[in-house]
Amino acid sequence: MDAEDQASRVLREVFGYSQFRGEQREIIGHLIAGGDALVLMPTGGGKSLCYQIPALARQGMGIVVSPLIALMQDQVAALHEAGVRAGALNSAMSWPQVQETERQARAGELDLLYVAPERLLTERCLSLLDRCPLALFAIDEAHCVSQWGHDFRPEYLQLAVLAERYGSVPRIALTATADILTRKEMIERLRLREPKVFVASFDRPNIRYRIAEKDNPRRQLLRFIRAEHPGESGIVYCLSRASVEDTAESLVREGIDALPYHAGLDSATREGNQRRFIRDDGIVMVATIAFGMGIDKPDVRFVAHLDLPKSIEGYYQETGRAGRDGLPADAWMVYGLQDVVQQRRMIDQSEASAEYKRVATGKLDALLGLCETTQCRRVRLLDYFGEQSTPCGNCDNCLDRPQEWDGTVAAQKLLSCIARCRSATGFGFGAQHVIDILRGNRTAKVEQFGHERLSTFGIGADLEAAQWRSVLRQLVMLRLVQVDTERYSVLSLTAASREVLRGERTILLRRAVDGGAVRPASRRPVDRTRVTAAQAARMLSDGSVPAGDDNTHQTLFETLRAWRLQVAREHGVPAYTVFHDSTLEEIARRRPGSTEELRAVNGVGAVKLERYGSEIIEILAQSRLRRFGQPAR
Ligand code: ADP
Ligand code: ZN
Repeated sequence: MDAEDQASRVLREVFGYSQFRGEQREIIGHLIAGGDALVLMPTGGGKSLCYQIPALARQGMGIVVSPLIALMQDQVAALHEAGVRAGALNSAMSWPQVQETERQARAGELDLLYVAPERLLTERCLSLLDRCPLALFAIDEAHCVSQWGHDFRPEYLQLAVLAERYGSVPRIALTATADILTRKEMIERLRLREPKVFVASFDRPNIRYRIAEKDNPRRQLLRFIRAEHPGESGIVYCLSRASVEDTAESLVREGIDALPYHAGLDSATREGNQRRFIRDDGIVMVATIAFGMGIDKPDVRFVAHLDLPKSIEGYYQETGRAGRDGLPADAWMVYGLQDVVQQRRMIDQSEASAEYKRVATGKLDALLGLCETTQCRRVRLLDYFGEQSTPCGNCDNCLDRPQEWDGTVAAQKLLSCIARCRSATGFGFGAQHVIDILRGNRTAKVEQFGHERLSTFGIGADLEAAQWRSVLRQLVMLRLVQVDTERYSVLSLTAASREVLRGERTILLRRAVDGGAVRPASRRPVDRTRVTAAQAARMLSDGSVPAGDDNTHQTLFETLRAWRLQVAREHGVPAYTVFHDSTLEEIARRRPGSTEELRAVNGVGAVKLERYGSEIIEILAQSRLRRFGQPAR
């Protein structure tokens, strides 16, 4: 059998998939033939199969270098579920466990061995490998070799030793980081031999990008989760540890299963929370960016940002953790003037070099441009990574085209109001006060300074306060208004604002969309109104599954989900390792009548069919009985 047939067979038999995705076939073929490769693929693109299949197809054991010990066990568990002989070596394991894994390796009983880089580099481990036939080395999260990236790991530099010691063993480096500089670094530092470079499209079509204005972030978040993702897994990113804690608490008070994660928590709590997030269905993780690398939970249904990330790279990496299973998912962010001010302040006040500040400012501005654009978000994102595309139809701007309006007059009113109250008083004021003057509000502060006598008092009564905040934010972004980050966020004009005041420049603004955050569910490609797993479990046990065709698919899906949770608990593995949501969804849709038909469903490999086939067919048979109004057994 040639290599290609063999790869297709493993794909079908072991993993239960009918087709390769993207360039998987070429990558796998190249490795089986003994070549080195560098693979750049977005999160969820399907990197794992690129080394798992060649490891199974080639003689010997495949070594997977992965920096994330906490997740190794889950990866191995998922492989065991599919009947693959896999093991791991890391510092979280007991001595007897380590010895047993080493014995299996020596006895040729493993097809895949996951190893942390620091462990791999020990003489003990290297000499173990010396005595085993090796199929390949896969270096996951390979961007960790880059000293400029934020995930730098010094051990990764030493992985170059593999090139000398195991010159004839093919190596594949994989990452979801796209930029050209890192690409070169990975090839050089890992000493890949004439690697073939595979760059996949970075588009994630199932993710819907949505960016709205911040008004009351907690309430907006709550509304978003309740309306669109009740009982589902998601990640909420916040900038500070304090806001992580507060947000998690406020969600819990509202009955949402939320957990906090940040570097200030002790490691046991952190690991415990991460574990629960991965294993249980429907947990919301509220976290700083300390959370996320290597989290390969496939059914994260949303990633929400309550604070602005620092760059488009950061935003893309974080939002990329949603929807790895290919089902619809949301990337949802709210942002406001305060975010812009805060991020600029962090750059200004950092100790870094002028060069670094310049780069950081450029990156932040690119992100702000993404926030304020009235064009397709995805086109803009992909363009940033050098990829051309056309409007996607799956972002807020495509679905609900925001209006642009000529804000020149409004900008002039705002700018002159800032100038007038400064010159009348001798010092500057913040946003709230300036907007009060524009709207003609006689607040105590307005009267205290006699600002009701300014010529700009009341000239902006035609716009709501929220609209003025939106105008101001956009002017700040355009650097037409400066916010003093040191003192009380006082506003002042910039050199460029004169041009606007003199009428030499037209200002096009994005119209504030009220609650642009929430869209009716009917617009979604897949209706995901769901009962929670807990409700489904109850229905499963008391047989009260409602009949009716609209509901059948949904109910069946929930019933299968509840069954999956039970199985996962019994086996002590994450639910998704039993079956992915996408597989359960397909089963609910196709309702196979026999194990033979079940075999055709994506994600049902030989071992899983053997293990769970008859149980699933039984669940389907029971649901059919109920549907036709006959008593369930
Ligand atoms: P990455 O490591 O690139 O983030 P994974 O390897 O975890 O992505 O794959 C993402 C998801 O896609 C997984 O749920 C995986 O099972 C699924 N997948 C990968 N390749 C295929 C394929 N050829 N057909 C169907 N599903 C696939
Ligand atoms: Zn779009």
